[in-house]
Amino acid sequence: MPGTMKFVVDCMLGKLAKWLKILGFDTVYLNKAEDRDLLLIGRRQQRVLLTKDHRLLEAAKDIRSLFIESDDWPRQLGQVLDTYKLADAVRPHSRCLACNVELKSIPKKAARNLVTPFVLEKASSFAICPSCERVYWPGTHFHGMDTKVGEILREAKARGQQSQRKKGEPGRSSKKT
Ligand SMILES: [Zn+2]
Repeated sequence: MPGTMKFVVDCMLGKLAKWLKILGFDTVYLNKAEDRDLLLIGRRQQRVLLTKDHRLLEAAKDIRSLFIESDDWPRQLGQVLDTYKLADAVRPHSRCLACNVELKSIPKKAARNLVTPFVLEKASSFAICPSCERVYWPGTHFHGMDTKVGEILREAKARGQQSQRKKGEPGRSSKKT
């Protein structure tokens, strides 16, 4: 169920957590959290724990967890997308980065009093966070992010197709006598 995949991310992986949210995944990230809190959140809310901490991973035997290998966030994100085959479940700009709550789209008319005239003119769609009431729109608010999102997804999808091809090959090439 890639669409319902939820995460709890350890303190060392702030960038990864932020990007998971940008891509629309339900992600809990706390600046300061004891290991036992992360484990509790993972267990209670059935979240996958993402960590670079071997000791924490050891303690997380009873919940789903993934050891993040790279120190580089695009690779970290790639690892998560690949491991859980999430490239097609991505919904960029659908979640508030501050509250981790799903955004509600609002008509342009409703955005009139909430954004500057420039933004109103430029943006094609608007969404609001029901919790903090921050207004989001593609392109402007996420300046430069859309290109990066596109890149990461293209790479993840390409890797997915490659691994499918690899799986397919032995069957095709096996000789029948
Ligand atoms: Zn919010």
